[in-house]
Amino acid sequence: MRDPNCKKCYLGQQDHVITRCIWGNGNLQSKLVLIGEAPGENEDRGGIPFIGRSGDLLDECLGLAKINRKDIYITNPLKCRPKDNKLPSDDILRQCIKECGPYLKEELEQINPMYIILLGSAPLKFLTGYSPITPYVNKKVGYKMYATWHPSYVLRNLELKKDLVYLFSLIRDKIEKGENDVEMLTF
Ligand code: URA
Repeated sequence: MRDPNCKKCYLGQQDHVITRCIWGNGNLQSKLVLIGEAPGENEDRGGIPFIGRSGDLLDECLGLAKINRKDIYITNPLKCRPKDNKLPSDDILRQCIKECGPYLKEELEQINPMYIILLGSAPLKFLTGYSPITPYVNKKVGYKMYATWHPSYVLRNLELKKDLVYLFSLIRDKIEKGENDVEMLTF
């Protein structure tokens, strides 16, 4: 079902900026899936999510939480790089999410993780409808789902790194203990 040359939505039709769709990457047996926003220039060039500076920061925070990137799965709800790395208007975005949604659904169904961490306001809004992100940071936002800051936002606010490390550690601990997601929402 995954078409690397998918041009169903506005993002995929920008031939001058994107070279391909970027699917998720990592361990298909992972108990944890991280969901970002959309590929950037580095990802478009390298072909996998979260490389470049925000990827380095993400790897650092995962490492501090004793999680190895190769053991988990990382993906984006939008599979093509937005022009100038800026998301299009809400109307266009809705159509893109409608077209890209089945790809993400397929990834999540295939992996069936114990936990999903939404990185930043975009995946939080796309997957839960909640906005803005601040009250939801490091909270449970749905079945299996927790939210935290986007790594590129943390790059500009390094004091928030501890929040990512905290959530990654919490979830690693739950996975190690075999704790399934039965907790109630806390907000
Ligand atoms: N930011 C994202 O949200 N996803 C990526 O893959 C890279 C940067």
